[in-house]
Amino acid sequence: MSYLSFYLLSADADKKPRLEQQHLDATNSETIVCRCGLMRHLTMAFRCLYCGEWFCFTCAESHFGQTVQEWRDEKRSKLRDELNDLTTEQIKERIRSRAVH
Ligand SMILES: [Zn+2]
Ligand SMILES: [Zn+2]
Repeated sequence: MSYLSFYLLSADADKKPRLEQQHLDATNSETIVCRCGLMRHLTMAFRCLYCGEWFCFTCAESHFGQTVQEWRDEKRSKLRDELNDLTTEQIKERIRSRAVH
């Protein structure tokens, strides 16, 4: 079974035509048209693992529920919390072990 038919099985009726059109465009011209109307090359488009729809950058952020900036800030603050819990010696050890790899 192709990915497309897999996604079509669970897609809402009103979403099926877009999935089919995106699949056609992706296959024929390596581009997709996002739901907002923007055309994107596949290298600049993002596909949802769950529903199979392709998105431009901005629509991908809202579909995936988080902006890239929010995700980065979250990671950074997690890392900061982690480092706060370490002693200076443990931090030095971390840097040393990273330098080896
Ligand atoms: Zn999705
Ligand atoms: Zn879009």
